[in-house]
Amino acid sequence: MAVVNELEKTEPLSVFEQTAFKGHEQVVFCQDEPTGLKAIIAIHNTVLGPALGGTRMWDYRSEEEALTDVLRLSRGMTYKAAISGLNLGGGKAVIIGDPAKLKNEAFMRRFGRFVDSLGGRYITAEDVNMKTRDMEYVHMETDHVTGIPESMGGSGDPSPVTAYGVYVGMKATAKHVYGNDSLAGKAIAVQGVGQVGMYLVDHLTKEGANVYITDIDQAKLAKVAKRSGAEVVDMEEIYDLDVDIYAPCALGATLNDDTIPRLQAAIVVGAANNQLQDEKKHGYMLIDKGIAYAPDFLVNAGGLINVGAEYYGPYNRDRAHKDAEKIYDTTLDILHMAAAESISTQEAAMKIAENRIAAMGKVKLPY
Ligand code: NAD
Repeated sequence: MAVVNELEKTEPLSVFEQTAFKGHEQVVFCQDEPTGLKAIIAIHNTVLGPALGGTRMWDYRSEEEALTDVLRLSRGMTYKAAISGLNLGGGKAVIIGDPAKLKNEAFMRRFGRFVDSLGGRYITAEDVNMKTRDMEYVHMETDHVTGIPESMGGSGDPSPVTAYGVYVGMKATAKHVYGNDSLAGKAIAVQGVGQVGMYLVDHLTKEGANVYITDIDQAKLAKVAKRSGAEVVDMEEIYDLDVDIYAPCALGATLNDDTIPRLQAAIVVGAANNQLQDEKKHGYMLIDKGIAYAPDFLVNAGGLINVGAEYYGPYNRDRAHKDAEKIYDTTLDILHMAAAESISTQEAAMKIAENRIAAMGKVKLPY
């Protein structure tokens, strides 16, 4: 009876009540005391296919913060896959703790076994603080992993395909705004010349754009400037430049109350995730300023398209580029729909994604 009394005293679980939990199919808490592994795998929606999304390791301040993060990220993956026309659902995993202290072979293989236990409902890949070697360990325990090195028969670094998708999304937005999609002679500010930014700069300079670049990492900046001829600017200056296009390729939330009034650009298209600090408010602030914005989760889907191509195989890089090229037409469709319905492009893209999931859900009648 004492046990019953103890149970009666506990607070009801609040997980199902969380706004972020809304719409999720399954959330799995994984714990392994010998290795110190604590992970959460969130499967948001599998109507279109198995839930694919990377594993992020972070030293979260609390378990609640980790849960909120994984719920938010897995939902985002559902939209990204749906808008890209992929037969994939949305999922994500987070591992809680300091990577430098915790990660080793046993730790990652134990995580791989948890992924495997889901029988393919969730497919993992690399994300923040995960290295190729970690994914190799995960792969020793499960086949439900993508983005593995080319040497192991995988698709390798997805960044060139992501950059290509951003580039075609930018050209489509230029077509919508200027009537033709040439970027020759356009002034373009690229914030962040990491894996994606660097390849994007190559496409832009090759087409004859005047490119301005910034990054915290001075060595990287100098390298990209040297090989592309792009002009280096200060980090804060990037928002005030008199350019045609601003391409955020570093951090999220760079479209906010402080930066939007400063932007001179007519177009914003970039690789960074969650560029709008507030999806609704800042989406409409861009419209009010007459700035055409291509939603980030659409134009940066090249990486997902690439790992999706690997998962369904046999992988072919040219084919992955061809699939990423479809971002051009989807971007145009979304810009037209947003203009026709007087809604933000973010809302238009979300609506198209939701409609596709609803329609495909009906196609899959029971046997
Ligand atoms: P990365 O870490 O290789 O590059 C990010 C770059 O931004 C780094 O060079 C970093 O020094 C720089 N940076 C950080 N803070 C900055 C600041 N305040 N000002 C200027 N530069 C700053 O990452 P990446 O793989 O190139 O990804 C870039 C963005 O695109 C991220 O937001 C990522 O989530 C998103 N993304 C990447 C992929 C992919 O395939 N790699 C796919 C989808 C989305």
